[in-house]
Amino acid sequence: MTTKYVFLTGGVVSSVGKGVTAAAMGRILQERGFSVSVQKLDPYINVDPGTMSPYQHGEVYVLADGAETDLDLGHYERFNDIDLNQVCNVTTGQVYAEVIAKERRGDYLGGTIQVIPHITNEIKRRIGLVPKTTNAEIVLVEIGGTVGDIESLPFLEALRQMRTDVGRENSVYIHVTWLPHIGATNELKTKPTQHSVRELRSIGISPDVIIARSDHPVDDSLREKIALFCDVELRAVVPMNTTPILYEVPLLLDKAGVGEFLLERLGLTPRRKPDWTDWERLVREVQRKKPVVRIGLVGKYIELQDAYMSVREALLHSALAQGVEVIIDWVHSAELEKGRGWEAVRGADGIIVPGGFGGRGIEGKIQAARYARENKIPYFGLCLGMQLMVVELTRSILGNEEANSTEFDRGTPHPVIDLMPDQRDIADMGGTMRLGLYPCVLQPDTIAKRAYQVDEVKERHRHRFEFNNSYRELLQSAGMRFSGISPDGRLIEIAELSDHPFMLGTQFHPEFLSRPNRPHPLFMAFLEAAARQAGVLKPIAMETSQVNSS
Ligand code: GLN
Repeated sequence: MTTKYVFLTGGVVSSVGKGVTAAAMGRILQERGFSVSVQKLDPYINVDPGTMSPYQHGEVYVLADGAETDLDLGHYERFNDIDLNQVCNVTTGQVYAEVIAKERRGDYLGGTIQVIPHITNEIKRRIGLVPKTTNAEIVLVEIGGTVGDIESLPFLEALRQMRTDVGRENSVYIHVTWLPHIGATNELKTKPTQHSVRELRSIGISPDVIIARSDHPVDDSLREKIALFCDVELRAVVPMNTTPILYEVPLLLDKAGVGEFLLERLGLTPRRKPDWTDWERLVREVQRKKPVVRIGLVGKYIELQDAYMSVREALLHSALAQGVEVIIDWVHSAELEKGRGWEAVRGADGIIVPGGFGGRGIEGKIQAARYARENKIPYFGLCLGMQLMVVELTRSILGNEEANSTEFDRGTPHPVIDLMPDQRDIADMGGTMRLGLYPCVLQPDTIAKRAYQVDEVKERHRHRFEFNNSYRELLQSAGMRFSGISPDGRLIEIAELSDHPFMLGTQFHPEFLSRPNRPHPLFMAFLEAAARQAGVLKPIAMETSQVNSS
């Protein structure tokens, strides 16, 4: 079938859940029997978000092929249960880098290089790579930012041209906007939406669908008003109230009839009736009152919880599967160093130290790992969290607090975590880490092996440093087991303690492979240990709404 395109733009303000909407749209189309892929066009000039501060950007989501991408790709993969690839996240930086490299090679044969057509053609070429590199029949393309941003103009122009290139019957434009609520008069306002649609039209794009996001119910008269002023069919004005449950979004959008409308516009007949049973069950499970398990997440970017998006989602997936409610207590590691914030650590049924870079707050994380080990509290270390769990144990065996990762102390006498040999001569910061999917062989009779129940797994990585093999014997003598090792035996991928209910760290990021209906085995095992610690593990306890808040 001819490839169909669904383009999503944003209006009025950012952060209204355009990424989740795109992901949900993908699911709605999948449920009707079509294969989809989702692409994000990010107008910023960085080549990828890998070099950006999590404070500015949130989590860097890593794909199987090692691409460092926007966190929206995490939503796309989780909602649609598909593996995306590097062409699915395009930035202005990538587009210009490519065009300038071609110009330097002389590929343009003396032509003057301009935004239109050279930059816009490169954007369109990259959109075209999605159907070429995936089996998608319908490609959803989301543009980051909001209409009116200077940076997004070339992307919008490319999208405008796409309608002529692929035809009206093969393309739909969805505009996601925000209806502000005026407290004094208790009303929702459509004027900013009208303005942003006008802005979009001045660029030459007329939206086919308007998704009106708001914190308050949108009534029919408001929909009629939007339809009239924005020249969109009434049934294509879709209200989308804020919901705390992300996985409810596809259900709400589908109920509003957006699936039928999209297929009709694209000239497609549904291949099957949507089956939302699993999703409805997920949403019911979220709403149900369940026994509480408290997880202390000790990080350094906790002011912006988006920095740990996939970890939070992975915990939620496992919690739903186990019939418990996870409450995450966000603990600032730098505060722990000052003796503050320990109540959350002491009150936790399980502790997670997630990934991170740079020295700030490192000692606080090591102290949290020590607390977990000494008090036998379940501990799960993700990448940096694994490295610090190793540092902590080394310090305590040697009685020497100078043991460290050379990332934080180049001159440490005990570099138990060190730069990988192939990283030593790398000067560039962008895209040069050990990235993407690597195999890991699980060792018999370990927590990891029991959790996964297979001999070998592949997991996604993003790091420069690794366990220093000259410390293997020393740590083994203190009860550390290397339960996951690279097939060549060289790299330690999972470490765990034998004399502890659950103290395990992974050099990779398991959070990227957890899916709503397929929770990650290690998150499951960790949460089970935490639920046991909370005293809520027994099925009988799950039936009741007994709450444990230790
Ligand atoms: N900073 C550490 C490294 O580069 C850990 C990275 C991470 O947690 N993703 O190895």
